[in-house]
Amino acid sequence: LIGLQAYFYLFRPYRNRIETLEKAAEESEQAEHIRREFVANVSHELKTPLTSISGFIETLQAGAAEDPEIRSRFIDIIAIETSRLKRLIEDLLVLSDIENKRESEDREFNVNEAIERTVEILKPIAEEKEICILQELDKDMHLSGSVDRFRQMMLNLIENAIKYSYKGQKIWVRALKKDGEIEVSVRDEGIGIAPEHHQRLFERFYRVDKSRSKKVGGTGLGLSIVKHIAVLFGASLRVESQVGQGATFYVTFHSRK
Ligand code: ADP
Repeated sequence: LIGLQAYFYLFRPYRNRIETLEKAAEESEQAEHIRREFVANVSHELKTPLTSISGFIETLQAGAAEDPEIRSRFIDIIAIETSRLKRLIEDLLVLSDIENKRESEDREFNVNEAIERTVEILKPIAEEKEICILQELDKDMHLSGSVDRFRQMMLNLIENAIKYSYKGQKIWVRALKKDGEIEVSVRDEGIGIAPEHHQRLFERFYRVDKSRSKKVGGTGLGLSIVKHIAVLFGASLRVESQVGQGATFYVTFHSRK
């Protein structure tokens, strides 16, 4: 028995070390798997619009261009697919900038100003669907970090609220002080999201309904960008939603004192 005890005593440190190494290997394998999956997804997302563009160009070249109606319809499709590609590449660049910590300037900024300017940019898109964006903002709220990233996050959340709302609905953008924290939320009355999807929404290229996302011009990267920015700010992120009852996304900025 003493021999056995001595054995465990002597080898325990090694066993712990082996376990640590095994865990590190498992983690790096998992990271590699995620990276490979991402590359495969990106390739697929790039290839789909490109295949469509080259198909329509070939058909035009083969004679379809002679019919003015067909020509104009095909050129419209090519334009839509091209802007899809452009959006996808822009989102990929934003994601890569954040992941590589290519940080824009960090400073203290006014939360209300940042939100108001973002809403201003999106108002014309909302108006196209007769959607009204209402704002409820507490006074004198400041955060420190990159204001550009903060605005990008608000842009993605409000854009989604517009995309997944029906004509004539309302969107509420709130920023409220709560126990020393700042809670920013974007609420819509749109299609909503079933609870079983909530956990995976923030993954890259995860979509509840792929064809609807594409129809409204989604890239599948918007919420993963939101998540990355929330992490940069040390903020927490959650969603409350049921199918058919709209969705509310909350970002809570904790005080860093
Ligand atoms: P996408 O570009 O497809 O909108 P996101 O990463 O921004 O990608 O969002 C992921 C998915 O989450 C969307 O495809 C959509 O299914 C769902 N989603 C995001 N925001 C909302 C919302 N406000 N209402 C309903 N569904 C939403």
